[in-house]
Amino acid sequence: MSEGEISILEREELERKEILKRYKSLLRSIRHDLTKEQKKGIRAAFDLALDAHKDMRRKSGEPYIYHPIAVAKIAASEIGLGTTSIICALIHDVVEDSDYTVEDIRRKFGDKVAKIVDGLTKIKEVFDHTDSMQAENFRKMLLTLSDDVRVILVKLCDRLHNMRTLESMSRKNQLKIASETLFLYAPLAHRLGLYNVKSELEDLSIKYTQREAYKDISLKLNAKKAARDRFIRKFIEPIKKKLEESNLKFEIKGRPKSIYSILKKMSQQGIPFEQVYDLFAIRIILDSEPDKEKADCWTAYSIVTDIYKPNPARTRDWITTPKSNGYESLHTTVMSSDGKWVEVQVRTQRMDEIAEKGYAAHWKYKNSKDGIESDHKAGGVDGWLARIKDILENPSTNALEFLDDFKLQLIHEEIFVFTPNGDLKKMPKGASALDFAFEIHTQVGSKCIGAKVNNKLVPISHILSNGDQVEILTSEKQHPREEWLHIVITGKAIARIRNFLRESKREVAEKGKELLKKRFSKEKVDFNEDNIHKLVKYFKVQSALDLYYSVSKELIAPEKLEISNIINKKPGTQAPKTVAASSKPDSSAKKNEIIVGDEFDMPYSLAKCCSPIPGDDIFGFITIGEGVKIHRTNCPNAVSLMSNYGYRIIKAQWKDSMVKHEKRFLAGIKLIGIDDVGIVSSLTEIISKNMGVNMKAITIESHDGTFEGTISVYVEDTKHLDNLINKIKQKHPTMNVYRIEVGS
Ligand code: MN
Repeated sequence: MSEGEISILEREELERKEILKRYKSLLRSIRHDLTKEQKKGIRAAFDLALDAHKDMRRKSGEPYIYHPIAVAKIAASEIGLGTTSIICALIHDVVEDSDYTVEDIRRKFGDKVAKIVDGLTKIKEVFDHTDSMQAENFRKMLLTLSDDVRVILVKLCDRLHNMRTLESMSRKNQLKIASETLFLYAPLAHRLGLYNVKSELEDLSIKYTQREAYKDISLKLNAKKAARDRFIRKFIEPIKKKLEESNLKFEIKGRPKSIYSILKKMSQQGIPFEQVYDLFAIRIILDSEPDKEKADCWTAYSIVTDIYKPNPARTRDWITTPKSNGYESLHTTVMSSDGKWVEVQVRTQRMDEIAEKGYAAHWKYKNSKDGIESDHKAGGVDGWLARIKDILENPSTNALEFLDDFKLQLIHEEIFVFTPNGDLKKMPKGASALDFAFEIHTQVGSKCIGAKVNNKLVPISHILSNGDQVEILTSEKQHPREEWLHIVITGKAIARIRNFLRESKREVAEKGKELLKKRFSKEKVDFNEDNIHKLVKYFKVQSALDLYYSVSKELIAPEKLEISNIINKKPGTQAPKTVAASSKPDSSAKKNEIIVGDEFDMPYSLAKCCSPIPGDDIFGFITIGEGVKIHRTNCPNAVSLMSNYGYRIIKAQWKDSMVKHEKRFLAGIKLIGIDDVGIVSSLTEIISKNMGVNMKAITIESHDGTFEGTISVYVEDTKHLDNLINKIKQKHPTMNVYRIEVGS
């Protein structure tokens, strides 16, 4: 053995010490006093996990047990969960990764722990990948969630730790896991009020999916830190003085906005980093007596707005009516003395803890001192869980549909509307009168023909606004229709309408089946599965049910139903219907510029939705029938593709960037500015003077002294495009110029 090397035995000994050290640090991070029983439970869970994972290592090479210990520590110290959750966190991967079963867990730790661990265990993949394995697993987890919210809380700790250690995963898995996190887990954390977890998950996600943008923003944030700190100090000085004079106990701090929220603002408004003004928010946290909370917050508010002028359109009172995830706070945006808008949040310590730790803290204030230790449900989260249950209870919904529905429940902001007798109902923003009708009762929704909003008659598709008073009008003759699916957004309404449609389709199909049977016997053909299958193929419908339905609805003309003819025809004969030819891969991509997977000559085509050009961060998506499609990792469709069909993602990269690309790639540029007659000729001049850029199209529209334009150009790569954008900006400094997807 050479010098500096250590033996396997020595290494094992070092690791054993390190494991114990980490376990002890977990115990220290638990902030409530443990009973003897609880201590024993945690130790037993640790021992079980240690044994189950003894021969396993993480991708980074570390002993696997580091992971469950870290997850348990997040649960204890960052979310403030209780003993049961800590035990579950320690053994959350045991059933999935070892021979221990849920039964074993039940015997050792009881029903509750077994149920939670079961919820956290992925479905064994009996068959090969189905289209919706990820969706199925997610649904399974949520089924347990409606019994016990701790399943999802522990799952979030697990996800957070996996995201923190994502560096050692393969690029493909990084993309898959990061997208799934952005698509589902961050919104879920938000919905449960876990703001810190949510922001960290979002930032970590874009660190992997939008590497360049992430690096760029974090560098710029760091560079401006000193100036920002100076600004904050100056801004809060007078507020501090006045708050002290009025004898309030408080803490005041400037909090930077997350990289994700800055990036979102940049891309939504098409502005560069320099134009994002609210890079931070000021937070005033008051130490108030329970019965003085609201009054103290408004006192602080009036002190702030005496010093700085508020923007009345941006004041929010979530103390009088908290958000349904429990969030309470007073927000306002004021004008600083330097002419910059600054957001100020006022809340008490209790509200602050709820805002940061969400559901868990809420429960804590409602009940005992040691975190969530019962199935008790807190505040507005109850209503939300009830709505999720609604979707879950609909057994025929398939997993992907379910995932979409569930996702809808996560992303919507809320509005408040009133019933005719003044009851307050929370609805997602964008909900229609019909959504509201289903919210009241399935029968009311099914029979809805219109509504009165603030005493004015409106159609069922009318979008509700905050504060509306809504009265639903019904008719016995009404029933749900297919088109209704386009005017509702709540899970409950969608599920109920789909259910009804499925049922009524089945009834209609039943009649069609009888009709078809008669036809068969008239032509003396056997009514059997084989022959039905031939008809299904001939008429190009999805299933026998669709065939019966089409016959009943006369979508298939009765005179075309010459059954014996069709059935006795040779295979390969087709219905005289025209079928759209599947679109050919983009011809511009014939000579490979991209390495897909590890192969140099795998065929691919460039996705139209985001039209990648060399230099963009890209990935491949294996489509059915159209080969591999190349998308940008920040494509608007990417997140949902990667989270629903992770196994169809394949890594892709541009060939050596040093080699000049022979081809040109289509890219879009958006321009917004002050109207100017010479603009088109000025732009075409810049473009024609830029070596090698060819313009495909230009449109400029002007209205009220401003104009909006798009140009599509053929460029070599991102550098080439950036160069062009910079040239336009130099020539027209006040203009907003940025890249867009070609189709948009
Ligand atoms: Mn895990």
